[in-house]
Amino acid sequence: MAAEQLRTRRQTRAAVLDRLLATGGLFRPQLAADCGLTEVSISRILADLREEGLVEETRRPAPYPGGPSQIVTVAQDQWVAGFTLANRRLSFGAATLGGDIAYLERLPLPDLTDRAALADAFVRAIDALRSWCGARGVVPLRIGVSIPGLRERADAPNPITALDAAWLSAHLEVAFPAVPHALVNAVAARAAAHLFGPGSEPVATRHLFVHLGRGIGGAWVEPVTAAAPIRPIEFGHVVVERHGPACRCGHRGCLETFASAGAIGRIFDIGEAEMLAADNDWLRLVRMTDRRRRLVADALHRVGLAIGNVLNIVRVSLVAISGWPSALPEDQRVALHQGIEDSVFGGTAALRVPLRFLPSTLGSDPRPALAWAMHELVRDGGLAPRREETRRVAS
Ligand SMILES: [Zn+2]
Repeated sequence: MAAEQLRTRRQTRAAVLDRLLATGGLFRPQLAADCGLTEVSISRILADLREEGLVEETRRPAPYPGGPSQIVTVAQDQWVAGFTLANRRLSFGAATLGGDIAYLERLPLPDLTDRAALADAFVRAIDALRSWCGARGVVPLRIGVSIPGLRERADAPNPITALDAAWLSAHLEVAFPAVPHALVNAVAARAAAHLFGPGSEPVATRHLFVHLGRGIGGAWVEPVTAAAPIRPIEFGHVVVERHGPACRCGHRGCLETFASAGAIGRIFDIGEAEMLAADNDWLRLVRMTDRRRRLVADALHRVGLAIGNVLNIVRVSLVAISGWPSALPEDQRVALHQGIEDSVFGGTAALRVPLRFLPSTLGSDPRPALAWAMHELVRDGGLAPRREETRRVAS
C-alpha cells in the first residue's frame, strides 16, 4: 500500500509492526523506507510503541561505517496465547511476540462432534493456561482460537465440530477479562500463519489463499493495513460434478468430495486421520501407481478449474496453496496449473498470476491460533480492537 494511503495511526502502527514481525528486526532507516514513512514519523511511532512495551531497540554493529546501529524488533517479553482445535486434539499454549512457544499442551479429542467432551477440554485448557500465566505474571496481549468449520453467524451450523462458540467466548471473557480474544475459522488462521508473521513478504495487493486439508477452504488476503486483511471464503463446496458423490453439506459433487485429504486418502486406501497426521510426509505412506496418479491429477485439475473460475471474477496478485498438494513433486502438480489454464479466460499467460505452494509446517498446532492472535494484534497496530468489529472471523 502506498505511503499516502497510510492515513490512520492504527494503520501506520500496523505497517510498522508487520514489517518488524516479518523480518525479525530492522534498522530504523530501512523500517521507515519499507513503511513509506519519514524519519520524523518513524521516530514518533517507535517512541510510542517502545513506551507501550511492544518494540525494543538494541545496539548492533552498524551495517556500514557511520550507518545506523540501533536495530528495532518486536518486544521479547510480551505474549500471545492460543487454542487450536485440529488433528484430533486441542492444542494450546503461549508464545512471545517473536513466535517462540514457551508453553504448550495438547489434550486428545478424538470426536469433534461430542459437545460435552469439547466443553470439558476447553475448560481444562483455559484453566491450565490461566495457571501458567498466573504463575509467571504473564498477561497475554491477545488470545486466538482456531476452530475448523467456524462460520460467521453464531447460529450457523458448523459441519465439522459441535463446539458451542458463544459459550467458549463467554468462558474466555470470564477467565481472561483483560485480554481481547478472537475465535477464527481454521483456514483464516492458517492464512495468517503462512502469509503474515515471521519470514513473510509484504502483501501489497490481494492474494487468494486455498487450503486443502480435512476440508477445502479459502481466504482473501490483503495488506495488513486493509480493513479486513484476511476474509475466509467458501471454496470446498463449489459443485463441480452434478451427479458426483454425496457431500457432508447435503449437496452432490462438491470439490471437497474429490480433493479433500479424505478423498485423496481413499485413492490410496488410507484414512483421513492418517493423511492429516502425516501432513507433509503423506506421500511416504502410499504407493503411487499410474491409476492413482491419474486420479490425483483429476482431483487437482478440478481444484484448478475452481480457482480459475474465481480468478475470472476477482483479480489477485498471487494464488497460495497449502495442504496435501504441497507434498507432491512439481511434475505431479501440473494438473492444477492446467485446471487454472483451462478455466481462466485468455489463459494464465494473460493473467500472469503466480502460483505458490506453501509447505505445511503447521502440524505444530497450536501455531495457527498463536499466529492469529499475533495477526490481530499487528492488524490493530497494537491498539485495542476496534469496537465495531465482531470477535469472530469465519467462513
Ligand atoms: Zn459440499
